[in-house]
Amino acid sequence: MNITIKRFDKHKEPQSIEMSYPIFEGLTLLENFLKIKTTIDPTLSFSGVCRSGVCGSCAVMVNGKAKLACSYKPNDGDMIEPLNYHEVQRDLIVDKTKSHKTLSTANAQLHGEARLENSPKVIVQSDCILCDSCYSACPVMAVNSDFLGPFTLTKVYRYTLQSNENKTSIDAIQTNGVWDCTLCGECTLVCPQGIDPKMDIMNLRSISVQSGYSDPNFANMDFGFGGFDFN
Ligand code: SF4
Ligand code: SF4
Repeated sequence: MNITIKRFDKHKEPQSIEMSYPIFEGLTLLENFLKIKTTIDPTLSFSGVCRSGVCGSCAVMVNGKAKLACSYKPNDGDMIEPLNYHEVQRDLIVDKTKSHKTLSTANAQLHGEARLENSPKVIVQSDCILCDSCYSACPVMAVNSDFLGPFTLTKVYRYTLQSNENKTSIDAIQTNGVWDCTLCGECTLVCPQGIDPKMDIMNLRSISVQSGYSDPNFANMDFGFGGFDFN
């Protein structure tokens, strides 16, 4: 029983290579990484701090789906890769600066006292561990790297519910925000915390419409009428 890990070192090889390792049965994927590092290959690099699903640092792609390595037990043939849409530092370690910058981007678009990151209410009422699984699962990131993404939109929604600055937060997510989402639901499927970003985005759309906004994609559709001849 083996797993394959995609290895990459930006200082050595220009491309990643795939390496196969035996599975230590009964252990989580993160424990397998630790075992591989201590007994087989000390060069293997990965992230993982709390080992109990709280810190969000050990998320990786398993057969193309984001999973927390500390809560997943590997199966024979699993392909392990770093998270999508992140710059790979080394092996499974990625730089989350860009993805987490979406929070400060949304924050910067809010005015006055409406500060997303600094609002204690948002932090208290959000179970998000910023693991980036939803971000890595989102197909929109592949075509629009400026998309605010699921975890930031979920935080904006929580903020909107609790804030008197409702209109301001809705203004802030009209560009590269609610209307760019395809409502595919991949973010909701992968979230280890049971958060439902898709539903939160649908609710944000509803509040946006109540605030006078409309779907810009809708405005660009001609519903096929342009092709009809009514004579
Ligand atoms: S539902 Fe929207 S935010 Fe979630 S993964 Fe799909 S496109 Fe991305
Ligand atoms: S919403 Fe869920 S999947 Fe997305 S970063 Fe937060 S905990 Fe991770």
